[in-house]
Amino acid sequence: MHLMRLEILGCYGNVIGKYRSTAFLINDSILLDAGTVTEVIDSEERLRKIKQVVISHTHIDHMKGLFPLVDELVMLGVYSLELISVKQILDIISHNLFNNLIWPDFTVIPSEHNAVIKPREIEIEKTTPIDNITIKPVLMTHTVYTVGYAVKEGDRGFMFTSDTGPTKRFWEVARNEKGIDFIIADVSFPNRLERLAKISGHMTLSILIEHIDKFGLGDMPIYITHIKPIFLNEILNEISSLGRHTIKTLEQGSVITL
Ligand SMILES: [Zn+2]
Ligand SMILES: [Zn+2]
Repeated sequence: MHLMRLEILGCYGNVIGKYRSTAFLINDSILLDAGTVTEVIDSEERLRKIKQVVISHTHIDHMKGLFPLVDELVMLGVYSLELISVKQILDIISHNLFNNLIWPDFTVIPSEHNAVIKPREIEIEKTTPIDNITIKPVLMTHTVYTVGYAVKEGDRGFMFTSDTGPTKRFWEVARNEKGIDFIIADVSFPNRLERLAKISGHMTLSILIEHIDKFGLGDMPIYITHIKPIFLNEILNEISSLGRHTIKTLEQGSVITL
């Protein structure tokens, strides 16, 4: 049986030294967020396999890997990279990125029919097939329009909060969705910075625990992501003093199969 392969290219809330920003490569061909790409995927063979980029929101730390990726693909003569998200997010990208000021409008270069980037709109809370997997976007609570995702291959998969503060709908979906093996959840700040976490649309470990317990997900395996590297040790200490074996940090460079 084929297993879903999830490669963690980057999973931190800032880029400094070895710490890279959010991007997960699914089955070698689908990027879930694009904060890091060519820093890790640098062989022609692997780059050519990337066909889709699924975006959770437009913050630059989730998109900046798209720039060198597209540049490299164009040099390799590879066109038609699908850029997938809900309408609200694709609109922000087309107005603010493909505006011929920040970046060329690659959705019409070299021509509309044969463009470098092909935007593809998906609908909120609708399960949509992408290649061999399905994705379902769920609205989160962040400082810009943001969706988390349920990602499944066959009847198994995982969920990803992307960047979010306290929110409700995602956790309801997580409780009801069948076959979810684990959840990748944003914990950017230590507990003492709860105020900052809330105003910047992120969680602390305490906020996360409050949510998973409230929604009956106390036994669900959780991988923590988007930690600000400057708080890494502090958050690791909070996790170990919590003493829950279901809560781990996501490891950059690791490959999870499910
Ligand atoms: Zn963000
Ligand atoms: Zn972020």
